[in-house]
Amino acid sequence: MIIDLRSDTVTRPTPGMMQAIVNAEVGDDVYKEDPTANRLEKKLAEMFGMDAALFFPSGSMANQAAIKMHTQPGEQLIADKWAHVYNYEGGGVSFNSGVSCKLIDGNRGMITAAQVAESINPPDFYHSPLTSLVCLENTTNKGGGACYDFSEIEKIRQVCDNHSLGLHLDGARIWNALIAKKETPKNYGKVFDTISVCLSKGLGTPMGSVLLGNNEIMKKAMRVRKVLGGGMRQIGFMAAAGIYALDNQFERLAEDHKKASEIAHTLSQHSYIRKVEPTETNIVIFYLSEGISEEKFINDLLQKNIKISGMGQGKLRIVTHLDYSDEMHKKFLEIINNYK
Ligand SMILES: *Cc1c(COP(=O)(O)O)cnc(C)c1O
Repeated sequence: MIIDLRSDTVTRPTPGMMQAIVNAEVGDDVYKEDPTANRLEKKLAEMFGMDAALFFPSGSMANQAAIKMHTQPGEQLIADKWAHVYNYEGGGVSFNSGVSCKLIDGNRGMITAAQVAESINPPDFYHSPLTSLVCLENTTNKGGGACYDFSEIEKIRQVCDNHSLGLHLDGARIWNALIAKKETPKNYGKVFDTISVCLSKGLGTPMGSVLLGNNEIMKKAMRVRKVLGGGMRQIGFMAAAGIYALDNQFERLAEDHKKASEIAHTLSQHSYIRKVEPTETNIVIFYLSEGISEEKFINDLLQKNIKISGMGQGKLRIVTHLDYSDEMHKKFLEIINNYK
């Protein structure tokens, strides 16, 4: 038995999801004739109260398309220094959109309205890049699954309105935030211009993300997706997995959060751990005590068939998910408790 806690992307389709995939009615999505993809897009647009939605092969492509749709080359976006769009999308912001990033030193990947306001370049000062977009992430990845207070997001919206900036949400793990904060997708749809959501993280599908927005901006989405090489054919098989996941594997995220918080609590009891970050959702970030090497710790766990991620500088990450069973959880806690 391998206990893989590196990411919530390592899950396999459940038997029910597999049935949904096999039975999906499909067509050519480049002609917009895939009935299941169309159904998934409509379902998500309605869920978030937004006009339109479009299926993408990955979250990175959905974010990169959104950035392209919001900006012109030479402009600047504002994001936290840990943002996925800046750190983990291969430099796509500059490659695809010719845009630079003004990075904010936020708190666990989250930024405030005051920080956003301070980071906007004056539009008539033609020496600096024109600020045109703010990108938020919820929950934050590098920030350890931290979730925003919705009131802060509303304040950021206000700042964006005052300065005519677009507001995009990298909602790869929005599902975890919705469960943890007991919030509704419709509130998110009201404040963001565009939202990307992942189906392949906590929801457990093999692939896919969806970009949501109003009709005006989403008019550009089909073309941008095509340019990025993301025009796909019978994607209804994957859309069916997404519909199944939303109906059957969304509420259960609370179980992942419970397990993560139990892991965080157990780790914090031991002297070989220096610090555990607050654990609000399914990601646990922790630091080893002085003198304990990251490589050795990861390797010791690997000897016991447990995989976790190193993030560098003594920072380690554990992510709970659909395929991390109660039995695995019990065994893993036991191993942490007996680690020397
Ligand atoms: C996983 C993730 C994405 C998208 O990643 P893909 O692997 O391209 O699907 C985007 N943003 C955040 C915060 C993520 O964690």
